[in-house]
Amino acid sequence: MIPVCGPGRGSLWGPGTEEQRRAPRAHFQQHLKAPLPGATELVLVTDLDGTLLEGSLPTRRRLYGWLGSQRHRILQVFSTGRDMRSVARLLAEEAVLGLHPPHLVIGDVGCTVACGASLTPSPLALEPIEALWRGRAAQVLPLLAGLPGLSAEPLSSDRRLAYAIDPRRLDRSRLPAIEAHGVDCLVSGDKYLDVLPAGVNKGSTLLGLLEWLELDPALVVTAGDSLNDLAMFETGLQSVMVGNAEPGLVRALPGLRRTYRARSHGGAGILEGLRHFGFGHLLAGLV
Ligand SMILES: [Mg+2]
Repeated sequence: MIPVCGPGRGSLWGPGTEEQRRAPRAHFQQHLKAPLPGATELVLVTDLDGTLLEGSLPTRRRLYGWLGSQRHRILQVFSTGRDMRSVARLLAEEAVLGLHPPHLVIGDVGCTVACGASLTPSPLALEPIEALWRGRAAQVLPLLAGLPGLSAEPLSSDRRLAYAIDPRRLDRSRLPAIEAHGVDCLVSGDKYLDVLPAGVNKGSTLLGLLEWLELDPALVVTAGDSLNDLAMFETGLQSVMVGNAEPGLVRALPGLRRTYRARSHGGAGILEGLRHFGFGHLLAGLV
């Protein structure tokens, strides 16, 4: 699938108002606390756990320091299954290693888009996702309550339901009956089940974001390690599957025409992928 630019052309995020259609980027930026790079040379969209956060302490310090020094030309997006509370905790924990907040966060496996500086969700992104989610939880919660292998309570419930799973006990044959209620069931890392509004995932939300920000898809590189990253890779955007990717994601590799399989794990794999896709010149400041 080749991304198209301009809100409204088949976008999950709806047509917007006429004023929004005239200047979508300016409109979107009104909701951001920190400015986006004026001249973007790369849009780096990274998963967190197992990807950006994976690596030795020296590797992470080096990577985080480099990202912090490139904010004027690399638009940085975290794309994660974590909710905003968890992202806030993580940013506080990793600050000691030099991790700066990104420009934007796609959280809740694509169900939230937030300003990286404030972690305040963008209403432009949330409204269409909320419309798809409305009433779904009430329909699927009774079905999920009877499903063995799930945590007793959802870990998160912002426009989706996230559960910890026991992969040996989870009966996957019962998931299609849940999906019949207008949701997608996504198992990733053999650790989590996410119940998402149908069609909403890290990939669909990223495409919506690129439309609003009027960004050239050729400048985008995504990176991830687990099955909730597959939707990003399926967009056809340049993508890096890091060396420590889960087996289910590796099995999908032959069908992913623009995804590079890095040898290196985590953060080092991201850098290897950037060199592969011709962004090596941006790494000159990496010490
Ligand atoms: Mg991950």
